[in-house]
Amino acid sequence: MKTGQTAWYALRRTLVPWRFDELLRELFDALESYCVDEVILKIDTEEFSHGHPSLAMIREMLPRLRQAKDLLKRKGICFSINPWSTLGHADRGHRAEEVLPGIGLMVGHDGTTTQHCACPLSPVWQDYMTAVWGIYAQLQPDVMWIEDDLRNFNHDPVQYGCFCDRHLDRFKSLVGEHVAREALVSHLLASGTPHPYREAYLSMQGEITNEIVEKLSGALRTTAPETTIGLMSSGPFLHVVEGRDWTGLAETSHCHPLISRPPLGNYSEGSLRGLYASQHSIKLTRAALPAGTVEMTEIENIPFTQYTKSNAFTFLQMAISFAMGCEGVTLNTFDHRGSLMEDDPGVGKMLGGKKAYLSAIKQAANGEGANRGAQLLFDPHYSFRKHLPKDASYSALAVTDEAASRMLEPLGIPCTYGDAPVTVVTGQMLRCLTDADIRDLLRKGLLIDSVAAGILSERGFGAHIGVASLGTRISLKHNGPYAAEEYFNEDFGGEPNDFLTIFLPEYGSMPTIRKFELLQEVTVISHLVDADRAPREPVLFVTDNALGGRVAVFAYELGEAVGTAFYHAARRRQMVHLMKWLSNDRFPAIVHGAVYPLLICRDRPGETFCALFNLMLDPYEKVSIELYDQRVISRISSLSNDGRWVDASQHTLIETDRDHHLITLNQSVTWSTPCCLNVSWEEKSTLRQRSYPKANEQER
Ligand SMILES: [Zn+2]
Repeated sequence: MKTGQTAWYALRRTLVPWRFDELLRELFDALESYCVDEVILKIDTEEFSHGHPSLAMIREMLPRLRQAKDLLKRKGICFSINPWSTLGHADRGHRAEEVLPGIGLMVGHDGTTTQHCACPLSPVWQDYMTAVWGIYAQLQPDVMWIEDDLRNFNHDPVQYGCFCDRHLDRFKSLVGEHVAREALVSHLLASGTPHPYREAYLSMQGEITNEIVEKLSGALRTTAPETTIGLMSSGPFLHVVEGRDWTGLAETSHCHPLISRPPLGNYSEGSLRGLYASQHSIKLTRAALPAGTVEMTEIENIPFTQYTKSNAFTFLQMAISFAMGCEGVTLNTFDHRGSLMEDDPGVGKMLGGKKAYLSAIKQAANGEGANRGAQLLFDPHYSFRKHLPKDASYSALAVTDEAASRMLEPLGIPCTYGDAPVTVVTGQMLRCLTDADIRDLLRKGLLIDSVAAGILSERGFGAHIGVASLGTRISLKHNGPYAAEEYFNEDFGGEPNDFLTIFLPEYGSMPTIRKFELLQEVTVISHLVDADRAPREPVLFVTDNALGGRVAVFAYELGEAVGTAFYHAARRRQMVHLMKWLSNDRFPAIVHGAVYPLLICRDRPGETFCALFNLMLDPYEKVSIELYDQRVISRISSLSNDGRWVDASQHTLIETDRDHHLITLNQSVTWSTPCCLNVSWEEKSTLRQRSYPKANEQER
């Protein structure tokens, strides 16, 4: 399937059997005005699902699905299939045994059982599912989609599973002893250094998922060798609880490429700031999967009406997807109860109206490229290494302590999982790194919180981060009293009596801090003060290290400290100074003069694409984007609302100082439309040759 230069719209639509012909006709007639490129037919969906529909029922659907395919293909539209159920999302009163006698059902970590959701090891379910895929393969769809219910969590009423006898038997063959569910779960959730059974069990779950994907892929191959597989996922921070092996999964799909559908969340419209999570989900899922995976984001409103989400919000999610360089978007915006699309006429109008604009973004951002920003870290083995507290719940195995992107992006500092001069890591992710990996991080700029600093100190890197000893860990709520964080250090942009709140992450709550003993050469940037403004423990400190790098440490546990109360004009100043210092004044991209900006900045050969989103209702009247680059700007163009790239020299001011290019916009940027710029670069050497031609050339 080639998506080309167009902003690829893949519409996910259910054509209910009692109104099939009418809905198909409406769909066919709307294709052009909605600018749809691909239709993903959802089968047996949501309220009118039969649970695991019988094979007879699926065979019966086939002629109609073929009719839909033929009609779509006549208009050159791609045709894909998305069965709504794999293992099953939720019981909702279904009893799988009635359709699939002898099926093995999922058992939760707490012994909860389901009536509908299958254990992935169940031979009855495996035979059924491969038969289902074999039937759909006869249609030779462009893509066969796997729902995100192929996972070991969130199968209502089972939260985490499967721990059935079949799973326990397989685990026995792995470790050589029978471990009962209760004992196994207590090993998985043991506090401190993880019990070896945690990695063993979660890896086994990852392996089983991959075996299922391989079986499904096999069911396609003989009949539909050209069909590729699309994989819906639920975010790598969650998938660590089940030990997902992303690379192995992509390999066992035998699809080149595999198509990934990262979730953009925001299923109902809340704040515009929810869009930070949408863009983060794209980059995080990208980091988990192998290079070359095609990305079509999941844009969805639940329940499926305009009362849930405005078209303007849907448009912003689409714009973020294309600005991030994704190939397309999948749109699950209409209900699955047989309503007409034109009951919500605004959706189609928006889709058609924005096609040219979004295609222009795609042309500037798609393809080989790298995002600018501070570097984030993710390792799918995080849950194997995480140390849990006593009496932890199963959900604590997820990545719950990442705060880096939440901390920086609202302050105008973009983030990336690619290479960058500064790495920012909070919580326990560093446990996944080898000592050699850590030394590499310490050679560059590194910002960490007290949890990460504790891990480095325990592993013998204390001297590299300015820490003599760890000291005690205290809750500010129960100690002190403390009044505020004083950001006093003028060399780092602060000043005496510059106070930041310690009611974090929200007003009224207070974080945990570590009272480090610091080495002498450390520079403190901010410290706690009491109500008389007397200085107390350091909050933020920096040091150079023997490996040639620079390190900054927050004494807070940032995973629980970053929220609305963390942000402030002084905090923005503090973090901008810090990023510049940590990078030796080579930080690649920063937004100035904006509250809650979202900057997506992608380098492609000879060009940098910037999309600046305003995630608040007040317009930005004078906002600047600072790019560090040793080349010179040869041209800058901006995207007009009708989707044309036009010369931007009229409404931008460029000031360059020692490789820092400050691009100031002389136009306001509102929440409804991002400001998109494309910066073309030229090597300095090329320019010098042009400016000072050799004497003999001049003579010619
Ligand atoms: Zn099982």
